[in-house]
Amino acid sequence: MAKPVLFAIDDDSEVLRAVDRDLRREYGEHYRVMRASSGGSALEALEQLKARGTPVALFLVDQRMPHMTGVEFLEQAIPLFPSAKRVLLTAYADTDAAIRAINTARVDYYLLKPWDPPEQCLYPVINDLLADWQATFRPPFEGVRVIGHRWSPEAFQIRDFLARHQVPYHWMDVESDPEAQKMVEGGKDGAGLPLVVLTDGTRLVQPTRGELAEKIGFKTQAEKPFYDLVIVGGGPSGLAAAVYGASEGLRTLMVEGDAPGGQAGTSSRIENYLGFPSGLSGADLTRRGVTQAQRFGVEILTPQEAKALRVEDTYRILTLGDGREVSCHALLIATGVSYRKLDVPGVDRLTGAGVYYGAAMTEAMSCRDEDVYIVGGANSAGQAAMYFSRYARRVVMLVRGDSLNKGMSQYLIDQIGATPNIEVRTHVNVAAVHGEEHLESIDIRDADSGEITNHPARSLFILIGAQPRTQWLEGVVERDERGFIPTGPALTRDGQRPKGWPLDRDPYLLETSVPGVFAAGDVRQGSVKRVASGVGEGSIAISFIHQYLSSI
Ligand SMILES: Cc1cc2nc3c(=O)[nH]c(=O)nc-3n(C[C@H](O)[C@H](O)[C@H](O)COP(=O)(O)OP(=O)(O)OC[C@H]3O[C@@H](n4cnc5c(N)ncnc54)[C@H](O)[C@@H]3O)c2cc1C
Repeated sequence: MAKPVLFAIDDDSEVLRAVDRDLRREYGEHYRVMRASSGGSALEALEQLKARGTPVALFLVDQRMPHMTGVEFLEQAIPLFPSAKRVLLTAYADTDAAIRAINTARVDYYLLKPWDPPEQCLYPVINDLLADWQATFRPPFEGVRVIGHRWSPEAFQIRDFLARHQVPYHWMDVESDPEAQKMVEGGKDGAGLPLVVLTDGTRLVQPTRGELAEKIGFKTQAEKPFYDLVIVGGGPSGLAAAVYGASEGLRTLMVEGDAPGGQAGTSSRIENYLGFPSGLSGADLTRRGVTQAQRFGVEILTPQEAKALRVEDTYRILTLGDGREVSCHALLIATGVSYRKLDVPGVDRLTGAGVYYGAAMTEAMSCRDEDVYIVGGANSAGQAAMYFSRYARRVVMLVRGDSLNKGMSQYLIDQIGATPNIEVRTHVNVAAVHGEEHLESIDIRDADSGEITNHPARSLFILIGAQPRTQWLEGVVERDERGFIPTGPALTRDGQRPKGWPLDRDPYLLETSVPGVFAAGDVRQGSVKRVASGVGEGSIAISFIHQYLSSI
């Protein structure tokens, strides 16, 4: 395949030469650097690149050009190369226009001219953007292929698993893709599906998550029997603790039962996390967090579940899903919360076949030009609605309450209000879902009149809140009636330390009823359920863990 292109556009020939020189010097080995002195000539070149199938990784374009501004150019270039990263070159005086362009042309970054020295002002930005681009770029027909029926829950689970572990794959629907039909021995009858074909040609028929994880090379067994710190859960809290723990010298193991990233990993766009003015997707945040943790030497087991905890002297011993044990001195529970189930007739049977928990971003392309229903009225439902509105003909939000205001941030309410193909229906709930092999229709009940109406539908996404998964701590760590874990001052009642507490000090701020066992993030009683607060708690837990370790 031809090298991906970095495209620089500027009408000032001196600036253009300088950009070209700096880009070639740093990226010439892996990328082809192209340049044009106007938006028009760049667009002509792009048409040719498109026809030849050459990918474009990045546009670096001057904002103030005659005939066509940088933003106008990007608006025409994006449909040709939608995944290319977009950097606007601006003078200081144009920064307001550049910030507006973050919304209008989805500009990823604006760089102020001049960018000297490039090692400081240019390369870090471009490196970051190219790493992002590489993570989602799929060269044609290379990588893992997944073949199955669109409505197969098993095929959905495989796609979801690969996507959440950031493994690039190519989905081939056996009903509509002749090449997929050729690849499936035994024809279209569904026998032997879903099929996963790995890059080396290995064919996995109806693989379990464990088989898939092993063949793809994920690690599910710990290298050592003992660690200073074991973290259960790889969402934002767990990842932050892993980064801080390992960077401060603790031998750290992170155990993740599903896929790193947790709930945040399922978010299509987190707009309120500090330092990312144009937002970032949960997948991006996860990839960055995992890379950072691994760089500091954190060992990550995934998918591998914590099943039980016991305490022996100063050791905290964790039993894993495969029956193996791993022990440590300090344990951090960062298991967050998981989706609350919608308990109405038909949902269990059709889950994965048109009914999905969470935003299931793998389904977005399949929903193109269809109606999408979303149950829920909080931020996660709002983000999902915005995301699907880019693909679906119409998105209908089904909200139990009388408005979006209670559970949703104002910026999302505003975005939804300004998106013409999103319809918000309040005071309604889902009464039942119907379909033979996949979702075909939904019964919606009007809470005021009690009237039930039936609506044809092929996709229903459920985002109705969440509950903690802490049953495995039963009888060991104190939990409240809803399963959340109290820590620190919440454990001391009427001046009494928690039952069985053996030490002559109060529990630390994030310490549970068991000394040396800490909790952070959404799973903690009274926590603020946000990415930033999870990251904050995961990080400060490490400081208490140091204090604990120095006392044993
Ligand atoms: C769709 C969506 C959009 C959101 N958008 C935003 C946003 O824009 N801004 C914002 O601030 N917040 C947002 N949130 C909330 C935010 O994602 C959460 O507050 C945050 O992810 C909590 O982090 P956590 O690490 O505590 O838990 P989680 O993210 O829930 O991660 C917990 C992890 O633990 C794992 N786990 C659970 N039990 C076990 C076990 N027994 N063994 C091993 N592993 C286990 C789970 O698989 C999971 O990966 C959003 C949430 C959702 C669902």
